[in-house]
Formats: sequence, C-alpha cells, structure tokens
Amino acid sequence: MDMKTKPAISAVRVNGERLWASLMELAQIGATEKGGVCRLALTELDKQGRDLVIGWAKQAGMTVTVDKIGNAFMRRAGRNNALAPVMTGSHIDTQPTGGKFDGNYGVLAGIEVVRTLNDHGIETEAPIEVAFWTNEEGSRFVPVMMGSGVFAKAFTLEHAYAATDTEGKSVKEELARIGYIGPEEPGDHAIGSYFETHIEQGPVLEDHDKTIGVVTGVLGIKWYDCTVTGMEAHAGPTPMALRKDALQVATVLMQEVVATALRYGPHGRGTVGMVQVHPNSRNVIPGRVKFSIDMRNSTDALVDAMDADIRKFAADLSAKTGLPIQIELVSHYPAAPFHADCVAAVAKAAEALGYSNMPAVSGAGHDAVYMARLAPAGMIFIPCKDGISHNEIEDAKPEHITAGCNVLLHAMLERAMAP
Ligand SMILES: [Zn+2]
Repeated sequence: MDMKTKPAISAVRVNGERLWASLMELAQIGATEKGGVCRLALTELDKQGRDLVIGWAKQAGMTVTVDKIGNAFMRRAGRNNALAPVMTGSHIDTQPTGGKFDGNYGVLAGIEVVRTLNDHGIETEAPIEVAFWTNEEGSRFVPVMMGSGVFAKAFTLEHAYAATDTEGKSVKEELARIGYIGPEEPGDHAIGSYFETHIEQGPVLEDHDKTIGVVTGVLGIKWYDCTVTGMEAHAGPTPMALRKDALQVATVLMQEVVATALRYGPHGRGTVGMVQVHPNSRNVIPGRVKFSIDMRNSTDALVDAMDADIRKFAADLSAKTGLPIQIELVSHYPAAPFHADCVAAVAKAAEALGYSNMPAVSGAGHDAVYMARLAPAGMIFIPCKDGISHNEIEDAKPEHITAGCNVLLHAMLERAMAP
C-alpha cells in the first residue's frame, strides 16, 4: 500500500444494513414459527440456501467452484492470482431448532466484505475467497464439521459419503440429489490464511460487555465412558456397611470431574451429561452406573493433566471402596491454537476500529479448527443474546453483526494487501 491509498482503506466500513438484510433473507429459507431456522444439511432447503448465497456471490462478480463434498468456494480475483487466497467462511446448515446467525453470519459477512471492496473499488494483492462448508452441524449426518474435515483430510471422502441419516439416505445420494457434487478434489485448493466470524455461542462477551472476542484458539476435548460396578441388593435388608452401592461411588467421581475443571481454570471444563443407573429401581441398591465425562481445556497439556488427575482419583477411590471403576476414552479432539499473526490481525483491526474487545477461546468446534491445520487461521466472535445458540431464540444485535464484519474486513485486508 502506498501513502495515498492507506488512509482511504482504513476508513472503509461495511454496509451493516445490507448484511443484516441478507441474513434475514437467508433466514426465511427454513424459517420456524418461533423465529429460528431449520435448514438441515443436504435437504431441499439447504439447496435453496446454497443457491441463494451463490447467486449473491455471482452478482458480486465472484467465480464459484464446488468440490466433491459440496464445499463451495466463491472467489474475488486479486492483482496477483498466483497467490493463495485470503479466505473466510463458515456454514449455512443449521440445527433442527437452529437460529439465524450460527454459521450463516460467517458466510454472509464474507459476502459483505466482497460487496464492500466492490463499492470502494479496492483491489487486493491476493484473491479473496468466501467458503461455505458442508454439514458443519452434524445433526443429520455424523461426523460434524464434515466438509471442512474432508477438506483437511481428517477423514476420507468415502467415510463422509457413506454417512446416513435416520432414514438411511447417504451423504453421497443427497449431495447428488441437490446437485452439489462438484468436480474439485477436496483439499485441492490452496489457502493463504483463513478467518471465520461467528456468534460466540456462550455468555462471556455479554458478561464482560465487549463487542469483539479475539479468539486465540479452540479448546481441546476428551470424551470418556465411565463405569462403576457394585452389587445389586435389596434396599431394606442390606445394612449400610455391607453394601456395594455403585451410584454412591459414581457421584463422588462425578463431583471430582467438576472439581478438576475448577482447579484447571480459567478454561477448564468438566461435564457429566449422561448417566445410566442399573437396574434403576427404587428399592434396589444400584449395581452398575455408566456415565459420560466431557473434559476440555485450552491446551492439550492441560487436558492431559486433567485426564491424569481424574484417573488417579478414580484409582484411589476404587482402592478405598473396593468397587471396580473403568474409564474409557471414546473421543479426543486436540486443542487448536490459532496462528499468532491472524490473532494479531483480528486484535489490531478491533482496536483500530475502536471496538471494545477481549481475548476469547472457543468451547465449541468450528470449521476454522480444521482450516488451522492447513493455513494460518483466526476467528472473530461477537456476543449473542444470553449466550444462547442451537436454539430458535438465538439472537444478535445489528451493531455487533456490523462490528464483527468490519473487523473481518480489516483483518482480511491486512493479510490480502501485503501477503
Ligand atoms: Zn456454527
């Protein structure tokens, strides 16, 4: 950038009303009575949403390619098209009781960035791309973050194609039916850097009254199945000292899950969300309890330390009570710290624009997690009302929607002007 263009570019702002109008228009496809959106991946409604967004991209002069898992890449050429694009994106599929903003905001913010660059005749050095990734929500088809996962080679295209919904329809059949199996090989598409704007889906920004969350990374997660084995016996005739009550022992361990998360703050999370008591009868001492443990933290080392603590506690508890305790790891998602340069670009843009901001971590998965394996990546959070999402009442303020998009614009410009 030379000195003549620099002040002009720093003064550029997105058109918040236009972005809001596009969000509301997309939200009509699959609109629910309670003001939310139900647009499950690869349904007829998903096709309509995809077609609408791609139509907007073409109106903005972008070229569109689709890959074999249905990820769409909408491209605005740069001065040097040999450079890998500065990309942004998210998803437009929703939960069955989804809202208007989760995912959709990240995609349409990207479209608004391009519309703004067009309005002001700004040419970037590197191309700009906006992507939407197939089946991020994982509601109709598992695994979640499917399109970005195939793209990042976290699992194969065949694995994703074979996934079926509850009616037995496969991803491949449904992609073909809606016309979204493109020619491009997933992952065969360079990315210079990647940004994703998203509603926070938690209450921290609202609680701190901040407009922008500068996301430093996504929490690592470990999921366990835990089983405590005791002995069923009659609740009346069996004296307290002679019982092997699996539930009493299990609840001690459950309390420790929460205590462990609290010890490993500020980002430690510990949740027992699923409990099965056997035989689940009022007058029988529980003989077996199975429950889930979900532990999260900001680095893999911290998650591993929590893992070691809970296993040691369980071993001691088992020795003390004489009841076998089994802890089985069933899933592991590594922590994904974002790239320092992208985090800095977001923070710098938020500061320059005068928006209140704070560092944030994401407790939920996002497509950006997979992109971070391929290229420098970062995320921008804005508050959502009461921290609620995956719910029809999900809401965000227009001024926050606009602010997040302005941060995206300037973070992307920083990367795309002098890549
Ligand atoms: Zn999302």
